[in-house]
This record gives sequence, structure tokens and C-alpha cells, in this order.
Amino acid sequence: MNLQCRPELASLYKTGPQIARILTEEWVARELYCPACSSDQLSQSKTNAPVIDFTCPGCEQLFQLKGLRNWNPQKLVDAGYEAMIRAIRADRVPNLLVLQYSASWCVTNLMLIPRVFFSESIIEKRKPLALHARRAGWVGCNILLGQIASDGKIAMVSDGAALPSQRVRSEFSRVRKLAEVPPSVRGWTLDVLSAVRKLGKSSFSLDDIYKFESELRESHPLNRHVRPKIRQQLQVLRDLGLVEFTTPGSYRIKEYVSPRG
Ligand SMILES: [Zn+2]
Repeated sequence: MNLQCRPELASLYKTGPQIARILTEEWVARELYCPACSSDQLSQSKTNAPVIDFTCPGCEQLFQLKGLRNWNPQKLVDAGYEAMIRAIRADRVPNLLVLQYSASWCVTNLMLIPRVFFSESIIEKRKPLALHARRAGWVGCNILLGQIASDGKIAMVSDGAALPSQRVRSEFSRVRKLAEVPPSVRGWTLDVLSAVRKLGKSSFSLDDIYKFESELRESHPLNRHVRPKIRQQLQVLRDLGLVEFTTPGSYRIKEYVSPRG
């Protein structure tokens, strides 16, 4: 994979953020493969929408691209809050590609967030725009990257080096079964997975996870039975192959295992 964008294209377009958009868009169309199937390319969607979208010609998965010069690993500024919440509830958020480029227009990091990782808990409402703004009262949102379990942040390029496509595809395939969990419950599943990951250990007990009880209650104020919900979601994660049960009340997280060859 050639990580260099084509800065010479910049002169063909307007200045400012337009350039970053054109160069990152061209790079994805030229270099990127589909992480969800064996297709070695993604096609740019033919829309004039303000967002940059790609579709896989093989499996029809949708990808949205965000290119940034600097990124904050905790937070990513996104578009409208209400539209995002509606998309999550309707289960139609695209996969997200977060691309970081260097001053010399080289791709330094590219992170894939599979669509199934978008839940209401990771969307932060921003303050409405001030009265004198052109879109006064409009409310945007932030994607809280820090709240997403590591399983949902798949590196495709890391520190200026591309990861093997086989590894990326295998990591994507490991979590795509989360799509089988209905979106109304998936937020819980993801929050419990995120809590498991925050423990930072491979084996854990139910008591370890119960420490997140108040945090989970805050994210899900309508649910008063947090502990039974935690146990139920651990079973869901087990059925999806992401967590293993060892002895009663003890669990083990199933790590990504590099495929042979
Ligand atoms: Zn595909």
C-alpha cells in the first residue's frame, strides 16, 4: 500500500479544507481495500452529500471517511446530533474510516470503526450553535472514541505502516456478528464489552464488572436491573465468541488470534 497522497492534485482545487478532502478521498479510492470482504477496492459513492462515502462493489458495505491533520484519541467531532441518534436507532450508521495525514500528505494512521460499534452511549451532544451563527440552535455531536472497546478500533495503518489486510479483515470479521444483536439492545452489549476492556486483563470475575454498575446505570437510566443485565450481556458476548466462560462467575476475554500463514 502506497501511503502517499498526491499533493499535486491540490493545485487543481480550492484552498483550505477542500484540499484535505480531495487528497484523502483520492487516496482511499486509489489504495484502500474492503475490510469486510475480499474486494481490493472501494468505490466512491456518486453523491454530492457533504460527507465522503465509499461503497464496496463486492459486499456493498458502506464506509464514511473523515480525514484529519490532528486527531484526539478521545473525541471526534461529527455532524448533527439528532440525525446521528436516528441513524443509530435505525441501524444505518456506516462504517467509519478515520484517517490522519502528515504535513507532507502521507497517511500516518487509519482507523476503522465497524458500524456495529455505534451506540447512543458514545455520542455526546454539543452545545447548540449561538444565536448569531448561520445555523443558530443547530446541535452537533462528538463521537467519544475513548468509550469504544478496543475491538471496535481496528488499525489499518499505524504510525506510518500499513497492517496486513489479512489481519484487518480477520479483526473485522471477529466483531461483525454484533450486527445480529438488535440495535435496541446493542448499546448494552457494547457498554459491557467496553467495561471488560477497561479492566485491562484477560481473566475477570463478575465482581470486577459490577464495579461499573453505577457508570452503566448512568448510561441506561431507564433500566433498574443493572446486574442481571450485565450477566445477560456477558452471555451475549459469549454467544458471539468474544468472551469465554471458565468457571461460574469467571470469564476470559477471547483475544484476536493471528491466522496462520
Ligand atoms: Zn466488501
